[in-house]
Amino acid sequence: MTNLNTLKPIINRVITGEKPGVSFEFFPPKTKEMEKTLWSSIDRLSNFSSNFVSVTYGAGGSTRERTHKTIKKIIENTDLTPAAHLTCVGASKLSVDEVASSYWDLGVRKIVALRGDPPEQSKKYAPHPEGYINAADLVKGIKGIADFDIFVACYPEMHTESKNFEDDLDNLKKKIDSGASHAISQLFFDDEIFLRWLEKVRASGISIPIIPGIMPITNFLSTVRFCKLCGASIPGWLKSLFNNLDEDQETRKLVGAVVAAEQCRRLQAEGILDFHFYTLNRADLTYAICHILGLTQNSNKK
Ligand SMILES: Cc1cc2nc3c(=O)[nH]c(=O)nc-3n(C[C@H](O)[C@H](O)[C@H](O)COP(=O)(O)OP(=O)(O)OC[C@H]3O[C@@H](n4cnc5c(N)ncnc54)[C@H](O)[C@@H]3O)c2cc1C
Repeated sequence: MTNLNTLKPIINRVITGEKPGVSFEFFPPKTKEMEKTLWSSIDRLSNFSSNFVSVTYGAGGSTRERTHKTIKKIIENTDLTPAAHLTCVGASKLSVDEVASSYWDLGVRKIVALRGDPPEQSKKYAPHPEGYINAADLVKGIKGIADFDIFVACYPEMHTESKNFEDDLDNLKKKIDSGASHAISQLFFDDEIFLRWLEKVRASGISIPIIPGIMPITNFLSTVRFCKLCGASIPGWLKSLFNNLDEDQETRKLVGAVVAAEQCRRLQAEGILDFHFYTLNRADLTYAICHILGLTQNSNKK
């Protein structure tokens, strides 16, 4: 049963009509050009107060260094609260622990702890022989290093490797029992699916905040490809909204902003108060959506 004390802050925020809480996800840039785009997006979105901004983590040394560099730059140049993603892929426990310790020393207090995917999508995941075996194991390991605030992934349409929804929920519980305090959902476009799943999550006794992951669509075809890989469904109505817009970027952007803003509004009406935006390092749509959600500009930005 849901613990009423954990619901009190949420109920208060609904009653007082408080603005939604937002967080923004970025990926570390590969080129100078991409770096320019990232920083102009971070600068634009820092006009809104956010709960945190997160930076994804990839397999391979160079992308890891880029994540670290981006997090360091966020700390040094902005007032934003960084959340560093960390995965188990291709690394021993020792080297993952070193990365986590270095984040703590930098002042990072939030970690998004993930298993990660095998480098080639077709291959089955296999842990490093001396590595963490899955996200739950990673959460336990890094919680032992320092008292990080740990976020984990969750899946309204279940992870593609889970046998069934029960199995998937059990895995989420293991991550929470290991020390995770928040979960961010995989992207989804069917709110009914999310809300029904959330009911099951709550009924199973999980009471930590679950933050829906919102993907503002700029490129529908690549969104379809990504959804196929991660097992998220694309409703028919969404497909028809993007019909004949492959060559019309301007209209696509307007439609994408409206779709995501409406999704947030519908979820808000159901008592969801925090949203995590997959920005893909672009500010325009997320900026418009935050504006529609009534977020006011933060005059204290650095
Ligand atoms: C919000 C969010 C952010 C992300 N950020 C990144 C990122 O920065 N970098 C990146 O590479 N990827 C990222 N991903 C993708 C993520 O790494 C993949 O979805 C990955 O396949 C699973 O990661 P997980 O942490 O959910 O794994 P886990 O929670 O470990 O679970 C993965 C699957 O394995 C199953 N499982 C777990 N333990 C066992 C076991 N012992 N035996 C059998 N099955 C088991 C689970 O049931 C589940 O089906 C992100 C995903 C989300 C939703």
